[in-house]
Amino acid sequence: MEIKNAYLAELYERVAKRNAGEKEFLQAVGEVLESLSPVADRRQDLIDAGVFDRIVEPERFVQFRVAWVDDSGKVQVNRGFRVQFNSAIGPYKGGLRLHPSVCASVIKFLGFEQVFKNSLTGLPMGGGKGGSDFDPKGKSDGEIMRFCQSFMTELCRHIGADTDVPAGDIGVGGREIGYLFGQYKRIRNEFVGVLTGKGLTYGGSLARTQATGYGLCYFAKCMLEGAGKSFDGKTVVISGSGNVAIYACQKAQSFGAKVVAMSDSNGYVYDADGIKLDVVQQIKEVERGRISEYAKRVPGAVYTEGCKGIWTIPCDIALPCATQNEIDGESAAILVKNGCFAVAEGANMPSTPEAVECFKAACVLFGPAKAANAGGVATSGLEMSQNSLRLSWTFEEVDERLHGIMKNIYANAVAAAAEYGCAGDLVAGANIAGFLKVAEAMKAQGVC
Ligand code: NDP
Repeated sequence: MEIKNAYLAELYERVAKRNAGEKEFLQAVGEVLESLSPVADRRQDLIDAGVFDRIVEPERFVQFRVAWVDDSGKVQVNRGFRVQFNSAIGPYKGGLRLHPSVCASVIKFLGFEQVFKNSLTGLPMGGGKGGSDFDPKGKSDGEIMRFCQSFMTELCRHIGADTDVPAGDIGVGGREIGYLFGQYKRIRNEFVGVLTGKGLTYGGSLARTQATGYGLCYFAKCMLEGAGKSFDGKTVVISGSGNVAIYACQKAQSFGAKVVAMSDSNGYVYDADGIKLDVVQQIKEVERGRISEYAKRVPGAVYTEGCKGIWTIPCDIALPCATQNEIDGESAAILVKNGCFAVAEGANMPSTPEAVECFKAACVLFGPAKAANAGGVATSGLEMSQNSLRLSWTFEEVDERLHGIMKNIYANAVAAAAEYGCAGDLVAGANIAGFLKVAEAMKAQGVC
């Protein structure tokens, strides 16, 4: 990482000292400040208004105890978090993650990224994120419900339809959103759009489930077309087999691509004939099972233990859709050596800085997460609009709006990169375009 602007380089040093040991957060801040150097060079007014200094510090960070009783009657204690990072352009908005790796650094990195991502969608949403180190794997429905109710009992005093609107993320899907919504309504005695990703019978939006994966492919399609290429006939590798991965696979296949591999946190399956998505959905969405099952049910498919090996499978296009830092420099080099020419990030920050450098050096088309996976939160924004209007749009209407938003994000990132002297660099373009809108709003609202 090289932050060329002296003011931002010194700011990064202060952030590193103040948030010592928070490696994911510092990685995210470092990448953004590196991209913003040409903006700081031109915009002394933003430096004078303290915008850069303020944007790297969350407006609020809440940590709380989540106590619940497991099926054997034993009391369990987890840690809950919510970061309300920036509300300059709208109420805080961002998902909740349930995974044992959740800690302050992970929540702050996700919340920080969310600020720029939400700005890129063009919708009025600030940035937030939350979650817990609770591990949903292997828990009964009753345990999940009791955990969600305890978590919301504390969280409900910090959120609201015009204040902060959480959604799903890793480990939080329709079932968890339902339990969280029910508990919020019970405590506050109000039926409002306080969460997105809700079920269709109680205010959810059609196409929200598909939105992040579909949006990723809409963005990747723009990126490919910009280079005279397409999905048609291409070999694609997708990591993960959760919400984002499944619908990225569906859309990539509908664009004529052959998806040959998917994974979970234990290992990956390779199917040279093309992944049968209905089998993956049965295993993951219905049975909540492991991806290894796929190889037992589909003749010719091969399962391999360990996540990293998926990047050794030759492909034209890679769509990392599992988790942060899943592609390191070594995996990136193997992808490039095997002929991969495009990477679009479905997960948040799945490529390490070394991997991004490697892709850049090899002129791989690279769609960064905050632009490429913004379709999920964009459609959450559309769910909020429908809730406010007390109307439901059709699947086609929501999908069309999503498609339009992803095209705009791509166009704005391309334009910002060109304007600030880094044409073709979508990482810089997305960071700059996302930043400028928030920065102008922060400056206009005075020091706060
Ligand atoms: P899910 O929980 O539905 O699926 C996550 C998938 O990634 C699972 O296959 C999971 O495997 C795998 N995974 C999780 N953690 C790890 C890990 N540490 N190592 C390897 N594999 C792992 O989550 P989503 O699909 O919703 O989220 C995936 C990514 O997309 C995350 O980075 C999330 O922040 C990002 N994202 C999600 C959005 C959404 O709308 N859902 C919106 C924008 C971004 P296993 O089942 O074994 O845990």
